[in-house]
Amino acid sequence: IRAMKLCVIAGDGIGREVVPQALRVLQALLPALQVVEAEAGWDTFCQQGTALPAATLAAARDCGAVIFGAVSSPAHKVAGYRSPIVQLRRELGCHANLRPTLSLPGCGADGIDLLIVRENTEDLYIGEEQSDGDTATAIKRITRAASQRVAQSAYQLALAEGRQRLTIVHKANILPLTDGLFRDVARQVAAAYPQLQVDELLVDTAALKLAQAPQAFDVLLAPNLYGDILSDLAAAFGGGLGVAASLNLGEHAAIAEPVHGSAPDIAGQGIANPVASLLSLAMLLRHWWQQPALAARLEQAVRATLAAGTRTPDLGGSASTAAYCDAVIGRL
Ligand code: NAD
Ligand code: MN
Repeated sequence: IRAMKLCVIAGDGIGREVVPQALRVLQALLPALQVVEAEAGWDTFCQQGTALPAATLAAARDCGAVIFGAVSSPAHKVAGYRSPIVQLRRELGCHANLRPTLSLPGCGADGIDLLIVRENTEDLYIGEEQSDGDTATAIKRITRAASQRVAQSAYQLALAEGRQRLTIVHKANILPLTDGLFRDVARQVAAAYPQLQVDELLVDTAALKLAQAPQAFDVLLAPNLYGDILSDLAAAFGGGLGVAASLNLGEHAAIAEPVHGSAPDIAGQGIANPVASLLSLAMLLRHWWQQPALAARLEQAVRATLAAGTRTPDLGGSASTAAYCDAVIGRL
């Protein structure tokens, strides 16, 4: 049994609006939840000289369960600034990023229920870049260990969720050593899961097929960069960034993380959509705290509230963040 203790990192912009409201809903569902608040992001960097203070990292480690809202990042390189979410995922060993897209009442297309499992620790995201001003190079690192770990998580989650098919995404025709290793390891791990139908697609073909028929996909397993891009594409069919949820999952910690950023264009108005945060918390309930019944109750209340026409402006409604959450609490 894991401690019902949550480290809450709201971050910047709408992170400070959607996270407290979503937390209110979670506390209505789980009154015994212990909450530890911590700081991260651009404002934190400006005040403390670091975007991820040691105290925040310690609190996150101690709780195991984290919700991370969103942070603002400078558009140009700022000395000393590092993305706190990338650092947090790495420090907590969250090796898999789960990004589901499913059709919600009155949002996006119908009949979609897919899960993208994205490797979360390596590939081009190690940030090893070099430049002499005229030639710039970045290292794409793929390891057998990380590929194995994420593949195992993907197959286990697929089975646990009663899914049938898993598609390995890569570009091994151009990158036989890096993407080829990822594909080969994923194929080897698949041998232990004969119940699943496993196939593969080149990433460009996967993007085309996803755009044409997102309903045709079940689970996609991808290296970091392709998983990042394809999951934003998939999110477009699920009602957009306001409802796109994710969970970073590791052995010792899990971070619930709405896919969206700090949305400076709407921050401060109280109208940001909290659904992405609520559905991310439902994933934390299901996959980290092993509370599938509570997760389903939360998801049902989110769906029923949307179906009843209570929605924020990004979904064509007029509800505020707080009013939407009040309606969800009323349906728990
Ligand atoms: P964004 O996700 O913040 O916003 C993109 C668009 O989607 C905006 O029009 C915004 O209003 C809308 N949107 C996003 N979330 C919404 C919600 N919950 N409800 C209603 N509308 C929503 O992306 P951006 O504008 O490219 O980036 C803004 C800042 O966020 C940048 O500083 C960027 O670096 C940062 N960012 C952070 C994360 C993260 O913390 N994980 C992710 C992406 C971007
Ligand atoms: Mn992204």
